[in-house]
Amino acid sequence: MSDHDVDDIAFLTGSPNESGFMVNKRAMYEPGAVMVCSQKRACCVVSMGFAAIIAVALIVAFTKPGCPEATYIGEPVPGFSSRPTHSPPTTPPTATNGEEFPWRDVRLPFHVRPLHYNITLHPNLTTRLVEGHVTIKLTAIEETTAIIIHGHDLNITNYSLNKKYGKPIEILKFLVYPPHQQLYLGLNEILRRGSNYTLKLGFRTSLKEGLEGFYLSSYISAEGERRYLATTHFEPTSARAAFPCFDEPHMKAQFFLSLVREPQHIALFNMPVQETLSLNDTGLVVDNFEESKTMSTYLVAFVVCDYKSVSNMTRHNIRLSVYAPPTMIGQAGYALQVASHIFDFYQDFFGVKYPLPKQDLIAIPDFGAGAMENWGLITYRETALMFDGNHTSSRAQQGVAVVIAHELAHQWFGNLVTMSWWSDLWLNEGFASFMENIGTKAAQPGWAMEEQFLVEKMQPALALDALLASHPISTPVRDPAQIESIFDTISYKKGASIISMLESFIGHKMLAEGLQLYLKENEFGNAATDDLWAALTKVTKKHNSELDIKGIMDTWTLQAGFPLVSVTLQDGRVSASQARFVVCEENVTDPNEPLNTTIGYRWHVPLTYITSEQPHEQAMYWMNLTDVEFEVGKDVKWVKFNVGQRGFFRVSYDAVGWAGLISLLRNNHTALSSADRANLVDDIFTLVKAGTINGSLALELSLYLKNETRYIPWHTALEHLFQWVQLLFNYPAHTQMMQYIHTLILPHYKRIGWNDTGTHLERLLRSKILLAAVHCGDTHAIQEAKRMFHEWRVNGTFIPPNLRAVVYCTGVRYGTEEDWRHCWKVYNSSTIPSEKKLMLMAMAKTQNPWLMQQFLEYTLDSNKIRHQDVLTVLQEVSKNPSGRLPAWRMVRQHWAQISQLFGQGSFTIGSIIKAVTSTFTSAFDLGEVESFFKDVSVGSGERALAQALETIRLNIQWHEHNLDDVSHWLDQHMTQAETQVEVDPQ
Ligand SMILES: [Zn+2]
Repeated sequence: MSDHDVDDIAFLTGSPNESGFMVNKRAMYEPGAVMVCSQKRACCVVSMGFAAIIAVALIVAFTKPGCPEATYIGEPVPGFSSRPTHSPPTTPPTATNGEEFPWRDVRLPFHVRPLHYNITLHPNLTTRLVEGHVTIKLTAIEETTAIIIHGHDLNITNYSLNKKYGKPIEILKFLVYPPHQQLYLGLNEILRRGSNYTLKLGFRTSLKEGLEGFYLSSYISAEGERRYLATTHFEPTSARAAFPCFDEPHMKAQFFLSLVREPQHIALFNMPVQETLSLNDTGLVVDNFEESKTMSTYLVAFVVCDYKSVSNMTRHNIRLSVYAPPTMIGQAGYALQVASHIFDFYQDFFGVKYPLPKQDLIAIPDFGAGAMENWGLITYRETALMFDGNHTSSRAQQGVAVVIAHELAHQWFGNLVTMSWWSDLWLNEGFASFMENIGTKAAQPGWAMEEQFLVEKMQPALALDALLASHPISTPVRDPAQIESIFDTISYKKGASIISMLESFIGHKMLAEGLQLYLKENEFGNAATDDLWAALTKVTKKHNSELDIKGIMDTWTLQAGFPLVSVTLQDGRVSASQARFVVCEENVTDPNEPLNTTIGYRWHVPLTYITSEQPHEQAMYWMNLTDVEFEVGKDVKWVKFNVGQRGFFRVSYDAVGWAGLISLLRNNHTALSSADRANLVDDIFTLVKAGTINGSLALELSLYLKNETRYIPWHTALEHLFQWVQLLFNYPAHTQMMQYIHTLILPHYKRIGWNDTGTHLERLLRSKILLAAVHCGDTHAIQEAKRMFHEWRVNGTFIPPNLRAVVYCTGVRYGTEEDWRHCWKVYNSSTIPSEKKLMLMAMAKTQNPWLMQQFLEYTLDSNKIRHQDVLTVLQEVSKNPSGRLPAWRMVRQHWAQISQLFGQGSFTIGSIIKAVTSTFTSAFDLGEVESFFKDVSVGSGERALAQALETIRLNIQWHEHNLDDVSHWLDQHMTQAETQVEVDPQ
């Protein structure tokens, strides 16, 4: 799954670049809307063998009258008592019929294993009812008289179990336990170890109301008609809401699907259609698909829609297609082209053939995440797949390429080889996040993806992992809410960052060879983190390397946080020590206490460095759980550690060390690579945040930015500088801080100009600098943006794609109600997903309190703003100083509804908490947030709430340490600079 949701203007408001991963639930579409399927065709499944349907509201529990007591009440199933149960309920679990549910663990026993599913589904897009039937061939691993299987919100209408040659086995008891989403079948005889059985279950359900399971989505056709589609999103635990199944990633099986549909629709599945049959007098057809490869339930996907597609054959003879609503199919060309390129590249890079005959990429109008890697049928948020060169920015184009590269990497990492359990989610997501840069680089070599890795992955991961409320990469999880909660920056970005660090010390070739071996050894199976280290160790040993891969990497995967390496240089001798870096000092009484570790918060740190004497020759010392001392030579003027920021740690220099580096940057900054420059900016501003050094030192370093022309250091610097703007919002130094940033960007603003030309990185930089100029109140920039906005609104004058963010945002920020309403109209009528997203961001910039309030209230109505976009609106409004308090008020006022919409098992709830509180800076705010959340449930957002509270404490801490020092420096510096700049009071 991908967390990408490209944000052109995130930095503008200076909020932390820890973009929340979005997995939302969606409320019901409006009743009575025109749908594309007719009512009379609702119940064809009856004619397909579902005569014995017993309809009962919601979940039905069957218990045969007069059956004996269940064999295993209060006990685990035999043969699986060895698996420890997690927090067993203190009171016995009670099934829906009031009986005790005999299985207490949230995980399934492994006494039977599924081999093959034969699923028939008929989703009715008019009534929203789904009729289904599943036949599961399974084998007994242990002797047992019970089968426990997942099912969630399914109305089970019939069930049976047969031996190999059809002889039925009596089912004595059928129980449903909704809290664990489990069904229990108590049998009248023992299943024999090694024997095969056939379990059949008929069920009814409805297309779901959220963005998970089997759910309804819609789009507006060219004729203005609302068209519906039925689609799936199963990761991590929602396959069980579409059909009964053994819904754990290690319970792999093959899947055969029959999907009933109306003739005007198409149906898609992981595999191609084998045959399409007409269903007698019903007017319906059924698509029988080819049997899938052995795979996990969470990767199953199917869609019924009326889309169009574009296709081609890859060099390796795989049919690649992009599906989209007919109104958007013209924007599918880039995705097809870039996917073809990356897919062929991966086939060669992984050295393992893609085992399916086709790969479909489909845009879904309502989609919680960025995309989902279902094997052979990848589903995407529209903004992550559609690209129109005339309208879409370079940043959004990069987002499309990166998400495609991420999902295609999963076809091997995750789909072919799957983590054994969700605790090792990072094996899927960390690798896909690492590979997405390599895949994108293959397709777009001019985009400097290695450098961009720093600002997209490494720096955001370091920022979050410096909180005490972080967690280790490998972390135990069991229930759905816990599983949902680790689809976060740590699994994705820290995971990718430590792989990048591993690559830096074993080399790209050795890493690639190790990955190939890992995939070959585990294909069609499951693996744990240690299997990866074992494969890499085999390869490194073969190449005569004595590195203890597992020993090194365990220190990075099993412990939360990362080290701060403190270095001093005296008489040519370096002393480097390591300690866990925790940014919020209020909690630092014992940083090792909250998350215990047997390793003791020490790491194997590959301490690379370059010096003034040997600026192009990287040297390295290993800090093997220890501190180190070594010679670098007496003539050395500066030493830069962590070359290229490839290592997942921060470096704190002594006063002389910083002075040498700051002097180098100010006098000859290109002596260091742009990655190293960005790294120094990131480290020094973060150390200020932690109270380790004075803010004035970071400002001294930032003076070099007047000469900086590269995108990566500017990206890093603007993130930090605008965070300070936000922190200073209520203080006199706020204006001076804006003026100071303006003096830094002004020469670049003049140099870069308003022509949307140049390389990819130059365009990215232009977009950032123009936004920054407007934000700092540059009168020329504001006038220019307002002029372009006006001409666009009145005459429809074309705005180049990379200027749109700044033009739209400025137009609304300084505009009238009429301007805002125009954006609302464009948001509703545009068929360009990137344009719609920009409209949402622009509308959040309004200064009109009434419009702001109305915009916020629209988020509660899915007819106005799709639920997938609610988080974006709340994030953007919260970044607007005028929207901060209204957003917080709205979230509190409607918490019950928000909590219901975004669910207990969804990460969105955590992202919303962070969005509306991360800009708070006072003890009063902290108390208010604490007191509100003391009394309400946040479900899977617990950790996010802890991180949000820690962030507010951190903001308070920043003031205590830096307000006087920073104000004094700005006072002095700006007096000297004698700037004449007018400043936007915001
Ligand atoms: Zn992913």
